[in-house]
Amino acid sequence: MTRIKHNLQLIQARIEKAARRAGRPQEAVRLVAVSKKQPVELLREAFACGQTLFGENYPQEAAGKIARLDRAIAWHFIGHLQSNKAATAAALFDMVQTVDRLKIARALDRSLAESGGRIMPILIQVNIGREPQKAGIAPEDCAGLLKSILDLKHLRVRGLMIMPPFHDDPEETRPYFRQTRELASSLCGQGLLAADGGGVELSMGMSGDYETAIEEGATLVRIGSALFGERK
Ligand SMILES: *Cc1c(COP(=O)(O)O)cnc(C)c1O
Repeated sequence: MTRIKHNLQLIQARIEKAARRAGRPQEAVRLVAVSKKQPVELLREAFACGQTLFGENYPQEAAGKIARLDRAIAWHFIGHLQSNKAATAAALFDMVQTVDRLKIARALDRSLAESGGRIMPILIQVNIGREPQKAGIAPEDCAGLLKSILDLKHLRVRGLMIMPPFHDDPEETRPYFRQTRELASSLCGQGLLAADGGGVELSMGMSGDYETAIEEGATLVRIGSALFGERK
């Protein structure tokens, strides 16, 4: 068995166990294989093992990989997005997880309008730990941003994404996962999320803490190094 296949099976088993502990179905959690700075051969290998959802951080790098890999793969953008890359991101990705300001939302919406009118699902990146060096909108500003985005015809906000403060012990991160779930639930209550009856996506949890994130309601876990190994 290859290393990728082994890692993938291990991660899937852990996802299933964590979901079961939380009384959630395994299908409620999707694995985003974070493939930034990994060679295309490893992505191909993961795809051969059945992995069909990948996350990339850099539009240029992603473009090269997307062109070379199977069209059945779905790609999520999880990096920091600049307005001048919005058109590239709109053309390449099935979802942008890192919208954190109206300017970026407008740039994406405009690019989608100009390139055929496709509607793109997005997530709002929330700076749940209020860390000055990190991207993401402050939790209290989320409702306002969601209201403004409602006017943009080519974007559908599906949920929230976070990069919480880093801790070695995932139990230290649990409160941030919980706060994110509570924020999403409050936004749903205000009719600003999942108003169309669709489920809410919570993109949280990485290699070191995805099981805790799943216990707290994660629907998308973004896993890089635990699957592919160290990045180049
Ligand atoms: C790189 C990255 C990940 C994956 O991190 P690992 O610790 O390697 O699993 C997840 N989310 C984002 C936004 C990233 O940039």
